[in-house]
Amino acid sequence: MSKKYDYLIVGAGLYGSVFAHEATKKGKRCFVIDKRSHIGGNIYTENIEGINVHKYGAHIFHTNNKEIWDYVNSFVEFNHFRNSPLAYYKGKLYNLPFNMNTFYQLWGVKTPIEAKAKIEEQRAMFKHIKFPKNLEEQALVLGGKDIYKKLIKGYTEKQWGRSAKNIPAFIIRRLPFRFTFDNNYFNDIYQGIPKGGYTILIKKLLEGIDVKTNLNFFDERNNLEKLADKIVFTGKIDEFFDYRFGKLEYRSLHFESELLDIDNYQGNAVVNYTDKRVPYTRIIEHKHFEFGTQDKTYITKEYPHEFSKDDEPYYPVNDEKNQHILKKYNELAKQYNNVHFGGRLAEYKYYDMHNVIENALKTVKYF
Ligand code: UDP
Repeated sequence: MSKKYDYLIVGAGLYGSVFAHEATKKGKRCFVIDKRSHIGGNIYTENIEGINVHKYGAHIFHTNNKEIWDYVNSFVEFNHFRNSPLAYYKGKLYNLPFNMNTFYQLWGVKTPIEAKAKIEEQRAMFKHIKFPKNLEEQALVLGGKDIYKKLIKGYTEKQWGRSAKNIPAFIIRRLPFRFTFDNNYFNDIYQGIPKGGYTILIKKLLEGIDVKTNLNFFDERNNLEKLADKIVFTGKIDEFFDYRFGKLEYRSLHFESELLDIDNYQGNAVVNYTDKRVPYTRIIEHKHFEFGTQDKTYITKEYPHEFSKDDEPYYPVNDEKNQHILKKYNELAKQYNNVHFGGRLAEYKYYDMHNVIENALKTVKYF
């Protein structure tokens, strides 16, 4: 007897929603569930006093892939926001990512030749490191000691809750390093924020599809599994397998938000606090993502902490210990032909939004 649905999609975040949309277009019957009271996963935005608030941390869409850019814009128009965060360290502001403005602010150097010479001097004592083993070594090799001390070490160690010596080098390679006066954080060609917030994108993706929120897969697993031929699981892979090989570690975040009776608090969407003694990593002023002109403003301080049972998992901790555990889960997953694991949590990967969409589209094609 055929089941009611072709796919049960666990998680109404970006991966689950793109998958559901595309599978439905191909005539498949999808049922999307989410344990939260709303759709959208971590890109969910909520309108507060006319400001679209990124409830689970700032999300800035960027990609080099025109197909993906056109895809998201076919559901909601994106604005021309460019991420140009500032770093605050001991009473001074520095531009990010590391560029000629930052070098000028750090050392007073005015030309690329002067800046390169200064950085050479800063890196001189780390030149012998040919293959950086961890984030600290990678950062020192890239930019030398001042940048590391003022703009990287404190932020990184707060963010990951461990010494930069125990964090993989690739994480810092996410950050551009350039010798032009260009504060655009991302190198990608396309960048922006959906006009009206990300929730619109998810709503459009899920239009006409059966969705149930406030439904935790693990509370009704047996009944839910009977509803569909296949499962697309976007939650934590270790939880799916009842933690049989141990728990994967994540970093979680705690947000403290305030609605302020002023129209502009910090003049920028993102300000990073790179001193370890300041307990939060950044302050987000949400209205600036959409060039808001409201009378009030809404700000959020972001405090990272270790994930435990009832927290939201945000960042996978990609160290060796966790990779080792992940490998076991991935091997086991291969035996589950009717379950597909996708997205940041199920794949335990530090994905950006464009990666998630690309992967979901590829998977639908493959199926
Ligand atoms: N980072 C840093 N200083 C900053 C911003 C970022 O050292 O002011 C490092 C830090 O190690 C962080 C990594 O760069 O984990 C990636 O930062 P990104 O802004 O890409 O993180 P996300 O936006 O995903 O939280």
